[in-house]
Amino acid sequence: MTKTCTTCPYCGVGCGVQATPDGVITGDNAHPANFGRLCSKGSALGETISLEGRLLTPRIGGAAAEWDTALSLVASKFSGAIAEHGPDSVAFYVSGQLLTEDYYVANKLMKGYFGSANIDTNSRLCMASSVAGHKRAFGTDTVPGTYEDMEQADLVVIVGSNLAWCHPVLYQRLAAARAARPGIKVVVVDPRQTATCDIADLHLPVRSDGDAALFNGLLVHLVENGKIDWDYTDAHVNGFAAAFAAARATDPLDSGLAVEDIAAFYDLFGKSEKVVTLYSQGVNQSVCGTDKVNAILNCHLATGRIGRPGMGPFSVTGQPNAMGGREVGGLANMLGWHLDIENADHRFAVQTAWNSPTICTKPGLKAVDLFQACADGKIKALWVMSTNPAVSMPDASAVSDAIAKVPFTVVTDVLERTDTGDLADVLLPAAAWGEKSGTVTNSERRISRQRSFLPIPGEARADWLILCQVAQKMGFDGFDFANEAEVFDEYARLSELAVRFKRDFDITGLAGLTTAGYDALEPVQWPVPKGAPAGGRFFAEGGFYHADGKAKMIAVTPPERAKSDGMILNTGRIRDQWHTMTRTGRSPRLGAHLAEPFAEVHPEDALRLRLRDAELCKLDTPHGTALLRVLITPRAQQGAVFVPMHWTAQTGPMGRVNRLVPPVTDPFSGQPASKDVPVSLTRADMAWYGFAVSAVAMEPTRPYAAIARCKGGWRAEVAGYKMPHDWEAEARTVTGCEIGNAAVVADPATGVVRVAIVDGAQIAALFFAAPEPVAVARAHVVSLLGAKVDALAALSGRAGADRPDPGPTVCACFDVGVNTLRGHIENGMATVELLGAMTCAGTNCGSCKPELAALIATVSKPVAAE
Ligand code: SF4
Repeated sequence: MTKTCTTCPYCGVGCGVQATPDGVITGDNAHPANFGRLCSKGSALGETISLEGRLLTPRIGGAAAEWDTALSLVASKFSGAIAEHGPDSVAFYVSGQLLTEDYYVANKLMKGYFGSANIDTNSRLCMASSVAGHKRAFGTDTVPGTYEDMEQADLVVIVGSNLAWCHPVLYQRLAAARAARPGIKVVVVDPRQTATCDIADLHLPVRSDGDAALFNGLLVHLVENGKIDWDYTDAHVNGFAAAFAAARATDPLDSGLAVEDIAAFYDLFGKSEKVVTLYSQGVNQSVCGTDKVNAILNCHLATGRIGRPGMGPFSVTGQPNAMGGREVGGLANMLGWHLDIENADHRFAVQTAWNSPTICTKPGLKAVDLFQACADGKIKALWVMSTNPAVSMPDASAVSDAIAKVPFTVVTDVLERTDTGDLADVLLPAAAWGEKSGTVTNSERRISRQRSFLPIPGEARADWLILCQVAQKMGFDGFDFANEAEVFDEYARLSELAVRFKRDFDITGLAGLTTAGYDALEPVQWPVPKGAPAGGRFFAEGGFYHADGKAKMIAVTPPERAKSDGMILNTGRIRDQWHTMTRTGRSPRLGAHLAEPFAEVHPEDALRLRLRDAELCKLDTPHGTALLRVLITPRAQQGAVFVPMHWTAQTGPMGRVNRLVPPVTDPFSGQPASKDVPVSLTRADMAWYGFAVSAVAMEPTRPYAAIARCKGGWRAEVAGYKMPHDWEAEARTVTGCEIGNAAVVADPATGVVRVAIVDGAQIAALFFAAPEPVAVARAHVVSLLGAKVDALAALSGRAGADRPDPGPTVCACFDVGVNTLRGHIENGMATVELLGAMTCAGTNCGSCKPELAALIATVSKPVAAE
């Protein structure tokens, strides 16, 4: 079968994959982002391309509609709103999942034809603070370095990033470089002891938002220890004195770190010429995210450690095309090609190039403000593309209500049911990954092709095409592109504007590609100037984009921290899920790693708050409540509770943690602060807990329910406040299984109840409940679905010798469970390499290696004599 070279649709690493139509996915050895590596999510892509749950026809008010009718309705509603209420009465909320061509057309339509800049993207939640920090320091949003720098560095400082789980292939590249050159030091700055700390020489459990104080203190240390590159700063940097004065007024102990840890870090940084500081959401998602970015950039500018091999600040982006969005002007405060809305010359040049009837004259609404405007009745027509703000935005319930209030909402998505799609007046079916074609840009400025290897199903269409068809219905010229290659050509050609205004984003060398040339485009790092070599680094010799060509160091004053004895909520991501699980949630393998939302709590906090492992706890803020499984671990920071953000109304309504996050944002970037939320944490008094598997799709019908795909069906963790009286009825409600005969076994002494529903000779559903968290071998129970086994044997919930229980999945690539691994460790296979040789665990993507190491440490630990 023909292999198609394309790009993974998940994180900003931008790995190249090879795909065949039957769903076989392998890493692309030739792609410079990953050289053949894939993580667990990328490896499981083939399990996510089925048409289950796909939206295949347009819908108006929930009913199937003709494309022409739907497009006419969208066009007339937007035209009507603009005519009656002005251009700022409409808005687009788009996504880093869109391809550059989609993004480009959406921006052109909103900014050049509607005349508003009310187009913002879910990348606002991801790296807007990095964009703002770059622009303040460099004059434009430039990522100076490359992935190679990380491998060539002597010191890699990872700040606010669980790289091992969120950018796994980058982490694997670093781990491999460190294995080959053990001299590379790694420092992890993170409140939690994450899987990334597995390769750290030093873990700095900084308090939430304490990183500004840490890097301000570092700047002072660098000055006092003669580490400043005065030649570089004199020639290329402004603002040194003010930045240093602000840094000197900061107490590095405000970072919450021990004096000796701070000293060790400063010493390492000071003496390592080749240092890369890599940072992500832990820096960006903060009320002072932009300042934290600039505190980091200040240290690199002051030392001149930027733009040369093995050194520089490096912001890693969350989404596959977050960078592409930044380049086309996908944020409400930017024009394309890194030009500025506020600059009249830039606006005039863009409007002239587009030959458009108008151009936006001021920045539009950033994400949080955009949905507030929806709530306030100011937005009359809203178009949400390829994203799920009803789950992912802070104060998510209020965002749902705000979307519901908009008189006309259109949602373009690949799925017929999402939390946001359920609120739409018009649903438009989009082509999915594997079906659509275009380009994406990864975190190191590398443009790669996403190529289709599957036919577009039903009546779905590419996003850029849907936008063009609406634009044409609205009577606009300038949208008659024949294909995505023509869209890209216009975009590349007009990057001449960046050259004209002396901006960084020059891809004029890609203008004029034929359709065949576009199809064959190899991954290429920008800049791609016409007639000159592509790629490379920025700023080794200065050449910044402020008017005088110099960079600016920014005076950073960390905010005063309110004293509080309460808990702080930190939200984030887990290894095997992506965003709101609309794609990864389809893979049984990926669902088996962490199958429900959880609250990671330090043992001291758990003791104080009377929380017990595996019970449920309740998190409250003025914005919402969540019920979550308690996971007690010393890896958590005392006083902080970590909760992943992936669960939705369909998969875990009480785990939708973004409902708890207030809509508080950084003043420069508008990025919400999702990692520092005061929260009340208490024990949830549940009357019963349950675990169920079913061959039919389960709905979250109980006060607590978390549903995941599993082999042969669905699995669910449930709990309730009142003990049911009829357990068969309860089992059928939870499992959604209405057929077959039920066998019920109840133990009055323990309160444990077991229900098996058998259809013919096969197990159709199993349900286990108890007053305490249910102790059954879940992987074994899942393996019984559809099996022809005796109902009473199945109800034991324990594996027999003929069906050993592998235990919860550790290695998603090879489906290796914890019990299997324990057995091998107990038999002497007590290294990650030996476990890999015996079970293959950790030998594909390597994302589970930190967990293998932790398991070995636990199982191998000698038991103290009583
Ligand atoms: Fe995809 Fe994983 Fe690569 Fe990210 S690291 S692009 S999720 S394969």
